[in-house]
Amino acid sequence: MHFVVTGGAGFIGSHLCDALLADGHDVTAIDNFITGRPGNIAHLRDNASFRLVEHDITQELPAKEQTSLGKVDAIYHLASPASPADFTRIPLEIAIINSVGTRNVLEWARSHEARYLLTSTSEAYGDPLEHPQREDYFGNVNTIGPRACYDEGKRFAEAITSVYIREFRVDGRIVRIFNTYGPRMNPNDGRLPPQFISQALRGEPMTIYGDGSQTRSFCYVSDMVSGLRAVMDAQPEVARGKIFNVGNPDERQVRAFAELIRIISESNSEIEYRPALQDDPARRCPDISRISATLGWRPVVSLVEGMARTIEWFRTQI
Ligand code: NAD
Repeated sequence: MHFVVTGGAGFIGSHLCDALLADGHDVTAIDNFITGRPGNIAHLRDNASFRLVEHDITQELPAKEQTSLGKVDAIYHLASPASPADFTRIPLEIAIINSVGTRNVLEWARSHEARYLLTSTSEAYGDPLEHPQREDYFGNVNTIGPRACYDEGKRFAEAITSVYIREFRVDGRIVRIFNTYGPRMNPNDGRLPPQFISQALRGEPMTIYGDGSQTRSFCYVSDMVSGLRAVMDAQPEVARGKIFNVGNPDERQVRAFAELIRIISESNSEIEYRPALQDDPARRCPDISRISATLGWRPVVSLVEGMARTIEWFRTQI
């Protein structure tokens, strides 16, 4: 099959490209490198089944007839910055990528009659009042706060995706990704795993915002990729128009997570507490019973094992 991966030079996107290519598919990555890095896909440069199209998806994608790409069978739509540091650095870009950009990708899916998967986010639940979060929970999001460009951008992306599914018969499905980590995360992008690992490996203080009692549930990237593929490969009667949480329900307090990284990386870093960030969710844990029951997917890489692999990779970068 011929898969398109928007955001294919990013952290999750590049691992997804690797997995699809390993199974013998053709893959076209579309990326403008706003947060992705050429190094993530450098190893694919000579792979005849891989193509990179440098394009900003907020600009219309070329009409089907005007490209040499041929027929596209399925589109994974991952293009969007995802780091909280970017929510203040490039908020307008994030809002536009998830609204206008998502519309452009949906138009493309429609014209190619391609299956389509939107990567939404657990941030669609905001600071949740239900725990763990199930797909039918509508969330608790501040629509005007500093994270709204992303949280509401993704919620709008879900809304416009559902319009294309209902009105234009697009075979679309939505995955709400929960915190994911692994090799190829940008050490400087401010998300918790790369931040803690970089600080631990450099011997710098590990910064916790708030008292560290807030929880997160971290999923190793190979598990995330297999979850995305399970949803994409599912038959329309099972997955079309549906939302699936994909993540690892192994919930940890942030201070325990920092401690685990300090131990695995054999670091002497101190832990430094700073004031809590606005709208930072207090608890985050996926309910994955829908994807487990319908598609038989569940994560298999433990936090200790995944973190050890990730720290090894970061050692080569720092
Ligand atoms: P990433 O920043 O590493 O990857 C995003 C990719 O999209 C980058 O390569 C970037 O250059 C590209 N991109 C952004 N805007 C673009 C545009 N206008 N045109 C073309 N390309 C563009 O982030 P990631 O962690 O790999 O996230 C991938 C997707 O998963 C995102 O949609 C994100 O919202 C979602 N997600 C990720 C996590 C996580 O923990 N990593 C959690 C929830 C949701």
